[in-house]
Parts: sequence; structure tokens; C-alpha cells
Amino acid sequence: MRLFDTLSRTEKEIKPLDGKTYRFYCCGPTVYGPAHIGNFRTFVLQDVFRRTLETGGTATLHVRNLTDLDDKTIRDSRKAGQTLKAFTAAWTEKFHTDCKALACLPPHIEPSAIEHIPQQVAMIENLIEQGNAYASEDGSVYFRISSFPGYGRLSRLDERELDLGKTQNTRADADEYEKDSISDFVLWKARKEEDGENFWESPWGQGRPGWHLECSAMIKEYLGDSFDLHSGGVDLVFPHHENEIAQSECACGGKFAAHWFHTSHLLVDGGKMSKSLGNMYTLSDLAEKGFTAMEVRYALIGAHYRKQLNFTLSSLSGAREALAKLAKSATKLAENMGGETQLPCADFGPFQGAWESLNDDLNTPGALGGVFTGLREASKLTGKDAAAALAGLNRILRALGITLPEISKDTTDIPTEIQALADTRWAARSAKDWATSDQLRDELSQKGWAVKDGKDGYELTAL
Ligand code: AMP
Ligand code: ZN
Repeated sequence: MRLFDTLSRTEKEIKPLDGKTYRFYCCGPTVYGPAHIGNFRTFVLQDVFRRTLETGGTATLHVRNLTDLDDKTIRDSRKAGQTLKAFTAAWTEKFHTDCKALACLPPHIEPSAIEHIPQQVAMIENLIEQGNAYASEDGSVYFRISSFPGYGRLSRLDERELDLGKTQNTRADADEYEKDSISDFVLWKARKEEDGENFWESPWGQGRPGWHLECSAMIKEYLGDSFDLHSGGVDLVFPHHENEIAQSECACGGKFAAHWFHTSHLLVDGGKMSKSLGNMYTLSDLAEKGFTAMEVRYALIGAHYRKQLNFTLSSLSGAREALAKLAKSATKLAENMGGETQLPCADFGPFQGAWESLNDDLNTPGALGGVFTGLREASKLTGKDAAAALAGLNRILRALGITLPEISKDTTDIPTEIQALADTRWAARSAKDWATSDQLRDELSQKGWAVKDGKDGYELTAL
């Protein structure tokens, strides 16, 4: 698979650094309200990215945090008269429900910022010791950006003639700030009245961590000093990801993320969909208008991730029509199988073009087009050939995370990684490569799945 990398501005081959597992981090939701479908554009595309890797046989380790401790969660929990934990737990639950409806695979690890205060304090201590951070008179701590020569590379601040020397007396206290105010940013915020009960003890007095630091500390905890890929929406490039690179590379040494994957925004009437602008749609808003989460998912992957996507309700009607058309063609293909059963496969048959699009900088609109082209080609097939084509269709739909009601559910409930292993095993068995086949059977069993072979295929059951 090839994917554009924001830092080098080039497409790069996606390969695990350790040769085994692709380890990646996504900045998670700020749990102070329902996520809007702009947020979900980013989470759904990250999900297609992961599914593509797993369908291609690469194991993944997906870490996505919960931003449950920042200016916004504190402000709104206090407004609601709830503890920060209770307030953010309720919105986290809503987020999980929406992710499930959108068929987003849950991350393997989902750390919460509140639960990782000691790791954040340790990182600040390290940065102070090395001269990259300093405490101010009020007990706050700031990162000295002039101490990190690489500052600004990701967001190309050099093109704006950044003079790091000039930043020395400017400081940013808020979690979010604009490009015009490049400044030393806050790592630890001294306790303030408006924080209420939300403060912790530290060597600099009572306070709480800044938002940017949280991701760096959780990444160090779960992915170490260097890892494969870091992702988020484009709004995070500056200052959030720029600040993460600075903190992590100073505290840990070496290169932080090997690859940066940023998704463009979902727009409404030409502007970014955002909670603060009040122009957002949630899944619940759209359900009230009669649209399903699967229709939303289809519409969200209908444009390339590097292009902005203007959201309209008519794009959801278009998604509904497309899904109905796909389901009809798939049912026809199943009928054309005659008495044959669906064959598991390790390739994509008529859907090879769609698969290649996905692997070519995650070209989801190209892949959806390829599914329709494949179905036209497959419509001429019968018997075993139709059965093989249907298996190819199921495989590409699993990679896209699309479920069609007419396609048997049993294949879609199996995790993509497991399905990919089982398909590879079947291909090895068919090629009489017994050693690989046995080894993959053991691997499946360790992951909790049993395989029963038949004449023309296999059955997978959870142990
Ligand atoms: P937040 O909950 O604000 O922390 O954002 C969660 C994720 O959604 C981040 O990766 C953001 O960059 C991303 N995001 C926010 N707004 C949009 C939007 N309108 N379109 C696409 N992604 C977005
Ligand atoms: Zn982050």
C-alpha cells in the first residue's frame, strides 16, 4: 500500500517498522458532546486504512486516545454540574455507540488522558531536565520551542519566515491557538479557579496537563519512542502535531512517527463542520431525517481523503441509491451461483481494480467505482465463477467496511484480520502448503477462532 505522508510531502510505501505489526496512533475524540460527522469522516477513513492493511494480511496495533481532559471538557462538565469523569464517560459511551453503527473497528487500545497523569508529569520533568521546558512564576510549565530546531517542519512554518528567536517571550496557555501565534506552549497549567476540582499534584504545584502533551505521553506508553504512523484531521497539523513532535523528539530522542496521515475536512456550505460554529450534523440528527449510519459511511468515503468534501443531504440520498444498487447486483450474483457455495478466496477476482485503488493512496472513490465495474463484469459469471466473484466482493466490502443487507451476515461479523488469515490459510491449503496452513490454523486458534474445512471452503467459528 502507498500513502501520502504530510511531513515528506511524498507518497510512501506502508510497511511495519518492526516487519510484523503496523503500529499507529489516531488522535481521538474530545468527549464533551456528540461527535459530528466531520469528526467521523476522519475516524471512518482511519478505519478504512486499517481494514485495508488487515485485508492485505498485515497485522495492526491501533491506538486511539480519549481526550477527556482539556479546556472544553472541563468547561462543559462544570456547566453541566457533573464530575469530569462522569461527564466524559457518558459522551464516550455515545461515541462508542456511533462508531459501532458506522462499522468502525474499535481500536486495540483506547487510553484516557485522565488515567495517564503520572506519565505526563514524568515527560515534563524530562523536558525540564534537558532544557526544553521551563516553569513560570505561577507554577505553569512551557515548552521552549526555540530549543527544538525541527519545530515547524510538519506545517511548513519556514515558508512563513518563522524566527524562533522572536517567540521567546510569547506563551500560549490555551489548548487551541492559531498559526499567527507561534509561541512557547503550555505543558502544565497551574491550578485556576475555573478548573474547579480538576487539578492534580505535581513538582510545580497543583494543576493539570496541557492537551498537546497528553498524546505524546500516551504514545510513549503504548507505542514507544518511534512508531509507524500518526493520524488526525488537517486542523491538527498545527499546532497539535507540531507540538507533539517537539515534545516527543526532545524527551525520547530519535524519530517520532515514521508517517503522517491527515484527512481533509468535511465542509458545510464551504466552511468546516465544527461544534463551535454550530453547523454540525450528528448521526442522531441524520437518523431523525431517516438516514442510516451505513449511508453516512458510504457518503463519507465517497471523496478522496486529501480533498475537502462538502456535505449535503442529497449526498446521503445518493449513498442510499448506490447501496441499493450494490445490494441488488450482489443478490443477482448470489443467484447466479446456482447450487455452489461461496468460495473463500485470497484474491479479489473482478474486484482487483477496486483493491488496487484502495492501495493507491487510499483512493476510496476509485475503490467504490471499481466495485461497480467489478459487479458489471461479474454479472456474466455463473456457478463456481460467480461464487468466487461473490467472495471477492465480500472481501473488498470488508476492506471498505460496507455491509449490504442482502449479503450473508456471517462473513461480516468476523474481524477483518481473522478473515484475512483464514483466507490466506485456505489459499496455502489449496496449494498443498501444509506447513503454512497448519501454522495459520494455530495462529487462528490462539486468536480464538476454529477452522473447519469442507470440500469447497471452510467455516470459521469463535472458540
Ligand atoms: P475532536 O473531537 O475535535 O478532538 O476531533 C476528533 C477528530 O476529528 C480529529 O482528528 C479532528 O482533526 C477531526 N475533525 C474535526 N473536525 C473535522 C471536520 N470538519 N472534518 C474532518 N475531520 C474533522
Ligand atoms: Zn493528539
